[in-house]
Amino acid sequence: MTAKLLDGKRLSAEIRDSIREETACLRKGGIVPGLAVILVGDDPASRIYVGRKAESCLEVGIASSLHRLPASTSQIELLELIGRLNGDSSIHGILVQLPLPPQIAPDAVLAAIRPEKDVDGFHPVNMGRLVAGLPSSRPCTPKGILRLLKATGIPLAGKEAVVIGRSNIVGKPVALMLLEENATVTICHSRTKDLAGQARRADILVAAIGKPRLVTADMIKEGAVVIDVGINRLEGRLVGDVDYGPAAQKASWITPVPGGVGPMTIAMLLENTLELARKH
Ligand code: NAD
Repeated sequence: MTAKLLDGKRLSAEIRDSIREETACLRKGGIVPGLAVILVGDDPASRIYVGRKAESCLEVGIASSLHRLPASTSQIELLELIGRLNGDSSIHGILVQLPLPPQIAPDAVLAAIRPEKDVDGFHPVNMGRLVAGLPSSRPCTPKGILRLLKATGIPLAGKEAVVIGRSNIVGKPVALMLLEENATVTICHSRTKDLAGQARRADILVAAIGKPRLVTADMIKEGAVVIDVGINRLEGRLVGDVDYGPAAQKASWITPVPGGVGPMTIAMLLENTLELARKH
């Protein structure tokens, strides 16, 4: 079997087009959706990510403000900024780019964002709402993954879904969202015994590990849908967690890296900002 391309670039462009139209409607009604992005320090990858997020906001008519703070910023200074943004009625979504420098506890920072402005869905209240199956801003990368899966037209109910990775930003929330869609979900991680055996059971395999090409073709069931979340730099180029070429010979659908999950994450950030502005 040769896999069909699950093209996040194309799908995210369609989503951005409809967001642009909806933003224009809101603007006509006097509401300009506003996203505040906070970047602490000089991590080069983070700088690229926030730059892309700001550009995408501009493209669809969302007002974005970038708050760049030095790597020496204290937790109290960051919390003060978040407090000001929480009280600013022109800001509907607040995003703190991770990772943060070591003197700042990410949990304290994420919990300081008002849940109604938590565009990433990482606030404990919103994580709790996800666990409970209640509406909330869903984390952007998992939400984008679900959108890609739905674009295949394959029903998710009853499917064996295996998620490799258990982080709070990808692995755990995507597993919960697959469960919401009535898939039978297994979460694998660094201590999982027989990772290959678990992966081979999957109709839907999500790799969110951060290890280049860890998922090889022999770990993929014939006809599985493979979502590669990983972004790894290898010999000067970006590669995913899946060994793409051989894996594409076994899967029915597969996401490329780059051009798969990455653009969907940004599209979902825009969508979440718009939804928060609409609720406001
Ligand atoms: P993380 O480091 O927080 O978590 C990695 C997970 O992989 C852990 O739960 C760990 O248990 C598991 N793991 C590590 N080694 C393993 C092994 N040998 N076998 C099985 N499991 C193993 O990473 P994260 O933040 O979840 O990100 C994962 C990857 O996804 C990274 O490459 C990251 O850059 C990428 N990512 C991409 C996007 C996007 O928009 N495309 C967004 C977020 C993260």
